[in-house]
Amino acid sequence: MHKTLILLAAVTGLAATSAWAQAPAAPASAVLFENVRVFDGKSDRLSAPVNVLVVGGKIHSIGAGTIAVPKGAQPTRIAGNGRTLMPGLIDNHVHIVMTASTKPQMVDSKATFAALEARGAEEARQMLMRGFTTVRDLGGPSFGIRKAIDSGKAVGPRIYPSGAMVSQTSGHGDSRLPTERSRRFFGKTSIGEEMGFNFIADGRDEVLTATRENLRFGASQIKVMAGGGAASDYDPLDVTQYTLDEMKAAVEAAEDWNTYVTVHAYTTRAVRRALEAGVKVIEHGQLLDDATIKLLADKGVFLSLQVLDPAPATAPEGTRQKKAQVVSGTDSAFKAARQHKVKLLWGTDFLFDPAQNKKQAAEILKLRQWFTPAEALKLVTHDNAQVFALSGPRNPYPGKLGVVEEGALADLLLVDGDPLANFELIGDPEKNFVVIMKDGKVFKNTVKR
Ligand SMILES: [Zn+2]
Repeated sequence: MHKTLILLAAVTGLAATSAWAQAPAAPASAVLFENVRVFDGKSDRLSAPVNVLVVGGKIHSIGAGTIAVPKGAQPTRIAGNGRTLMPGLIDNHVHIVMTASTKPQMVDSKATFAALEARGAEEARQMLMRGFTTVRDLGGPSFGIRKAIDSGKAVGPRIYPSGAMVSQTSGHGDSRLPTERSRRFFGKTSIGEEMGFNFIADGRDEVLTATRENLRFGASQIKVMAGGGAASDYDPLDVTQYTLDEMKAAVEAAEDWNTYVTVHAYTTRAVRRALEAGVKVIEHGQLLDDATIKLLADKGVFLSLQVLDPAPATAPEGTRQKKAQVVSGTDSAFKAARQHKVKLLWGTDFLFDPAQNKKQAAEILKLRQWFTPAEALKLVTHDNAQVFALSGPRNPYPGKLGVVEEGALADLLLVDGDPLANFELIGDPEKNFVVIMKDGKVFKNTVKR
């Protein structure tokens, strides 16, 4: 495993060289955005025209008129011409490696970890180029990609990695082929586990080891499968996964590491058990009853929702039926979450459909069914950033994300227009995000000088 990881890092480094060449050569020590109107991540309107100075990786000052530049800094000037400066987008539910390959590519017996990871690295680069400056990776081997990005060898968003998804036998993270037997009974360790996609862990002991193994590799949070899923083969939607004691084991190990567990769960029963075990974030929750959504609000537990699409016509009948049921719960979940003022998060959860990834930013437009443009943009910036504090000292990027304010980390988009008045702008990042900055560094700039 260790050997493979090192090998991988080398591959990612190579894959990244060409991507890096497209980015500006030297990290800018200071950048001055002139004459921009700011969407700060929280407000329902844009600011009056201001100048925004970024020094190093942080927003140094915001103000009208001349801005004092610290000694020695020679800011690169970007002419805003009244465009909108806003926080970088955050996708709170991605699977960087699994989103970059199709299912046949994933299960191909000739698939190498290096090839899958290299595709993931390229996908990470494209995520940043769509304006996503931070993502929470909710399962899969993203540690190597994150390391390559953070060391400057690759280009991509900030990644909050979970590592391998922790699943019970026959649970949502059990991706074995039907012919593969349990390693406890006649079988061997599955390829998915060897590659770091999942742990099939049963009983308190194995759940503890799986959780701690992820923490050992640098997981910022732990992802556990608590109930049935649509994309998986063996678990009907209604099933509850992990006994209370097993779930508690994951929570205890995560909390001893001063971080938290988030669970995949759709149903009331699965979520209620996870809450009893001390889980801090629920992924999905589309089939929750109203009382349980209210309970999330009362307990201050985050609900990480997605606007999921029906499964494609090519998917197996069982998958399509399960997905349709989940999709049908989306509207009521968003409405109840809004009504009860749940701490809401948003993400895409795209899987196994590389073509779909191009719609990552356009996916935000679907939020119009429940939110004003300002509310939707607040959700995908400021609100989405609130979950990162739960990682405590395991937060790889301490500092303020999701806002434009003095002292915050400089993850910024310059939008060619006013996205609050013309929300559609968000759906076409290639055209409309004329500057993309992460950590004070400019990765895209098409503003004419
Ligand atoms: Zn997911």
